[in-house]
Amino acid sequence: VTAPIVKGWCPGAYRPMMSGDGLIVRVRPRLGRLDAAQALGLCRLAQRFGSGVIDLTNRANLQLRGVSETGHEDILIGLAELGLLDVDPATESRRNLIVTPFWQDGDATATLARGLMDRLAELPELPAKFGYAIDLGPTPVLQDASADIRLERGAGSELIVRMDGLGLGRAVSLDDAVDHVITAARWFAQHAGTDSRRMSKLVAQTPPPPLWCSVQSAAPAHRPDPGKTELGLLVGVPFGQIDAAELAQAITTTHAKGLRITPWRLLLLEGAKTMPGTPFIGAPGDPLLNIDACPGAPFCAVATVETRALARSLAGRVCGTVHVSGCAKGCARKSAAAITLVGRAGAFDLVRNGCSWDDPQRSGLSPNDVLKLIG
Ligand code: SF4
Repeated sequence: VTAPIVKGWCPGAYRPMMSGDGLIVRVRPRLGRLDAAQALGLCRLAQRFGSGVIDLTNRANLQLRGVSETGHEDILIGLAELGLLDVDPATESRRNLIVTPFWQDGDATATLARGLMDRLAELPELPAKFGYAIDLGPTPVLQDASADIRLERGAGSELIVRMDGLGLGRAVSLDDAVDHVITAARWFAQHAGTDSRRMSKLVAQTPPPPLWCSVQSAAPAHRPDPGKTELGLLVGVPFGQIDAAELAQAITTTHAKGLRITPWRLLLLEGAKTMPGTPFIGAPGDPLLNIDACPGAPFCAVATVETRALARSLAGRVCGTVHVSGCAKGCARKSAAAITLVGRAGAFDLVRNGCSWDDPQRSGLSPNDVLKLIG
């Protein structure tokens, strides 16, 4: 199996990443939300200075694809005008924070997210991918989302700070929760060696003091489906990639007041009452919701295969989850799927009930071979 290439940093607005289709400029909306004017402005930037393709990431960020070097400068200016640019790259990279998309103004999630953002300078130097999840609805919805320190509900509904990798956390109050998040980050920085870049790996080797493992976390909620919510409509975005013109049209025609980004390839159109049409997925059960596929070739420089055409052909042919990955890194899905197809040297490896980096059962398959073999 080809070893996945692991980059030790995350692209941001200031620090874009080169891919097969140009630069990727990642935008981290504060509290995962853009108001309608910001969202429409971002769509215009994507169309004018990029290829018009926008990705939704599994950390609830947005990525503008196909940006040129000169276009990058223009995008930075545009983001600043829209109020979507941090003051400097250091602040941007520290603001690695994901929040439940169902927060409401003044609730615990919004209050503590703002509290943490105000104190980013107190955090120690941490690996670039180290991040935080603030998930204080009645039941956690972000337990599968990538984060190292989590603020969530305990089994008795109390506030807890939980180090990722532990089933137990530490009880905190609204007043001292951010202090304890910072303490947990400092504990990580003190104890992590060069080979522990994530909290779950560290706590598996070095248990924290018992106080950090004293309250059971609440059972997670089911992953949300497309449909109505208290805040508006949740709509699915096939493979987490959308054309900026189609997104702008959806915002305009549904009269959405804002856009919330989720880690589940779903967008929440705030205040929307009517479902936008194609390509959005408006109802649960659509087979495309069970399929993960990274951009593949020609979008990613590492990929040697196209991924999404095959993924669409497989929709509805397989009971269970499908993952089509351009290479063994598995950007689109980090957990096992019933069927995983992994590009290697222009053909596909097939892994059953595993991840993209697991040993394949079959190798050297063309897309036609795959379709004959599956379903
Ligand atoms: S998994 Fe896909 S997007 Fe990620 S590096 Fe491999 S080909 Fe590129």
